[in-house]
Amino acid sequence: MIYEVRAVAPFHKNGFVIGCERTHEAVVIDPGDEAGDLLAAVRDSDVQVTHILLTHAHIDHITGVAQVKDALAVPVYLHKDDLPLYEHAVQQGQMFGFAVRQPPPVDAYYDLNPIYFGDYEVRVHHTPGHCPGGVCLQIGRKGTGGADLFVGDTLFAGSIGRTDLPGGNYEVLMHSITTVLFPLGDEAVVHPGHGPDTTIGRERATNPFVLEYLRG
Ligand SMILES: [Zn+2]
Ligand SMILES: [Zn+2]
Repeated sequence: MIYEVRAVAPFHKNGFVIGCERTHEAVVIDPGDEAGDLLAAVRDSDVQVTHILLTHAHIDHITGVAQVKDALAVPVYLHKDDLPLYEHAVQQGQMFGFAVRQPPPVDAYYDLNPIYFGDYEVRVHHTPGHCPGGVCLQIGRKGTGGADLFVGDTLFAGSIGRTDLPGGNYEVLMHSITTVLFPLGDEAVVHPGHGPDTTIGRERATNPFVLEYLRG
């Protein structure tokens, strides 16, 4: 798997280019302020991007959608429950004091069908709680349950997504983490929207927020 991650100030939000090493088809995940770096990675890795996939529509995850769509002219995918956030990107930016360009329209909503690029498939799992339309993108070889999880801001190494923004809900978030993400397996590698990678097993065993929740 071709794997490129980039992040820049102020949000230090991870954007990804994930590609098939055989066919060089690829997806871009969550293009934000680092969109220029992601486009450079697309050129340097010599991949053909087929989809822009969004884990959710908070502003830090979508500020680069317009730039990437302009450059690559590929469809943008989002969970429909995050459309209100997406459509209010400019207002979200104002909340944080940033001038934001309204992203282009969403081309498709996630459904139950996997998305394919090269020899890989993306399985989409709805993981609300941080926001209504948060998803986990599970990527692996076609026909397998992939072991790479792009979880957006649902789960971090040693932490969990905030639930104090509009549409956030703590109980819903913990339910998503423990009943949707954890069954994907202790070996699965978690690529969060911010900060370093972790694994499901490590978070299940050591994440203080998870342990507190499971203690009830
Ligand atoms: Zn977020
Ligand atoms: Zn974020």
